[in-house]
Amino acid sequence: KLGMALRPLPQIGHIFQLTASYKADPFPQKINLGVGAYRDDDNKPWVLPVVKKATNILVNDPAVDHEYLPITGLPQFTSAAAKLILGKDSPAIAEERVSSVQTISGTGANHLGALFLSRFYAFPRDGGREKTVYLSNPTWANHRAIFNNVGIQHVDYQYWDPKTNGLAFKELLDTLNTAPDRSVFLLHPCAHNPTGVDPTQAQWEQISDVLLKKHHYAFLDCAYQGFASGDLDKDAWAVRRFVEKGVPMLVCQSFAKNAGLYGERVGALHIVAPTKEAADKVKSQLSILSRSEISNPPAHGARLVALILNDPALFEQWKDDIRTMANRIIAMRKELHRLLTEELKTPGNWDHIVNQIGMFSFTGINSEASKALTEQAHVYLTTNGRISMAGLNTKNIRYFAENLDKVVR
Ligand code: PMP
Repeated sequence: KLGMALRPLPQIGHIFQLTASYKADPFPQKINLGVGAYRDDDNKPWVLPVVKKATNILVNDPAVDHEYLPITGLPQFTSAAAKLILGKDSPAIAEERVSSVQTISGTGANHLGALFLSRFYAFPRDGGREKTVYLSNPTWANHRAIFNNVGIQHVDYQYWDPKTNGLAFKELLDTLNTAPDRSVFLLHPCAHNPTGVDPTQAQWEQISDVLLKKHHYAFLDCAYQGFASGDLDKDAWAVRRFVEKGVPMLVCQSFAKNAGLYGERVGALHIVAPTKEAADKVKSQLSILSRSEISNPPAHGARLVALILNDPALFEQWKDDIRTMANRIIAMRKELHRLLTEELKTPGNWDHIVNQIGMFSFTGINSEASKALTEQAHVYLTTNGRISMAGLNTKNIRYFAENLDKVVR
């Protein structure tokens, strides 16, 4: 009894429960492939060396206090963050038509972007629904909730092709073409979560052509810049190309993964407007919305990232640290592929393991096989067959490959 007048509360199950079961399991060779956070080769969280350096600088800076930040965030952070994702020579930045607001990491950027659209976007009537967003199927588990929270319903577009373990490109284009004009499409510009499957550059060209033709709005959720390929510019390619082509868009940015600042909640929302005048209006509305929800964003993480982005030496070191993470993940992909195809001769095609990119891999195994891995081998993963590559390391990858082999045979 809660002693309150509440309607029945539904039970929720989510990814954090998987971690709890993993922690409670005494089996020594247990593996956690559920969590979307980087681990080093010893399965430990990794504080980036550049973050340690920046922390030391901040701690010893007598000018650092604990006053409130401006409502829209630390200006040195938001402006550098915009350049990082849109490119330092971005025409939109030069023309002052980007409204950037500091948010509670990528989640907060998604929320603020969705909230802004729910208030101000002229949604088409779509099958009787007033406000609709098109989400990839599958997508990050939180997207639906974030949009539904602000009164935007969702429609799925097919993204994953189980036959090829790759992109359902034709189906994606079909949905873009048949959706009512001015629909809102959420796209992951790099390292799609959960599949690890991204469109090629040629496919992004086609996608953006249809977005333009249909006057659709691109809601770009970029949570893994740099983490995917190891190269910040390469991972921002689609975002910058969209700006160049004039696709109406916003972009959500997170520093959780690429700076290892998960718990510090550092992120930004950048809305690209057609003119400076429009951008100023957008910014003042974003400021009003943010004020009512968080008053002011948190300072510490934004200060760390602002230091790293604005100091050339720290920026270079950050790029090294990003490569360290990305390269370890890429090495694990190659090794898993090698073990399955060359050593164990596991039935099936496993090329998608090396073709996919970023934190996650959609293995293509079904829910029975996923459950068997957990129940028989103490390998914890979501039942959709998604594995976090960061949970694999040189010490546990053979154990994982052997057990994966067993459950699919
Ligand atoms: N978008 C996507 C696609 C993600 O995978 C994540 C992290 N799992 C986020 C947004 C938000 O993460 P955070 O709020 O920690 O930045």
